[in-house]
Amino acid sequence: MSSLIGVRDLVVEFSSGVRAVRSVSLDLAPGERLALVGESGCGKTTTMLAMMGLLPAGATVSGQVLLDGKDILAGGEATMRPHRWSDIAMVFQGAMNALNPVRRVGAQIVEAVRIHGGSRQDGKLRAREVLDLVGLPKDTSSRYPHELSGGQRQRAVIALALACQPRILLADEPTTALDVIVQDQIVTLLRQLSDSLGLAVVLVTHDLALVPHLCDRAAVMYAGTIVESGPCADIVRRPRHPYTRRLVEATPDLAGRRPLTSIPGAPPRLDLPLTGCAFQPRCAEALESCAGSAPPLTDLGGGRTRACHLLEVTA
Ligand code: SF4
Repeated sequence: MSSLIGVRDLVVEFSSGVRAVRSVSLDLAPGERLALVGESGCGKTTTMLAMMGLLPAGATVSGQVLLDGKDILAGGEATMRPHRWSDIAMVFQGAMNALNPVRRVGAQIVEAVRIHGGSRQDGKLRAREVLDLVGLPKDTSSRYPHELSGGQRQRAVIALALACQPRILLADEPTTALDVIVQDQIVTLLRQLSDSLGLAVVLVTHDLALVPHLCDRAAVMYAGTIVESGPCADIVRRPRHPYTRRLVEATPDLAGRRPLTSIPGAPPRLDLPLTGCAFQPRCAEALESCAGSAPPLTDLGGGRTRACHLLEVTA
């Protein structure tokens, strides 16, 4: 399948010296759903913000974001602006923070449409459409965010993101702080929207258990780079990178077949140079060579990739 959006060798460094993203590449086909998984601080959200051109001033970005083959990073804000919200939209973490607390939900959707060239009437029509799409009652339009439940607010944020009919939705931890029933409803909603609108979705999450319910493929990030990728079910059932294995073992198994463990240690500081494999200090399977050189992301066949020196031993 051809790529709708492709990220090539993306590197993001903040003025503090933190290199939050170190060479991330990924592709997304129309209607495809990709999970970006990893611990907090591994660069997932920064990757998404870079794809939207929404990084704070002072951040240095290199690499490419190819939308329909055209690099929308290259020309700065002037190149990015026409595509933001119209082609790529984002559901930000924390629904209450993403909505203006002193404006009615409908007015916020109308404003988004007007900013992108639509009339007030277009905006009102679109507000009715998107609120209906996300399963909210008609009167939601005239309500303030604080009058909605957590699940309704998350649906309203998704409606807002859909206002300009994007083809790609970046959903950053869309189920955080929701109870498991509402989490399930939001994941089901995202799947239905993706199916019915042909919407490509990137789900950013630290919760590996959520991933197979929504996504086709998963990419696991560690210390600012992708260390493993492949079909979701494969990654969860047969993780081939030591870090992914630890992530799976740290996910509660409701059947009680395996004990719940935590990942020892902490991720490396990203404001210091990294030599060798970034996971080496926490890896129980580390080889002598692991501290000396960073393993490249290697194609394992079957749509799987992995960055680990163990490949050289087991191949
Ligand atoms: Fe562990 Fe070495 Fe593989 Fe890194 S390269 S994950 S340290 S075995």
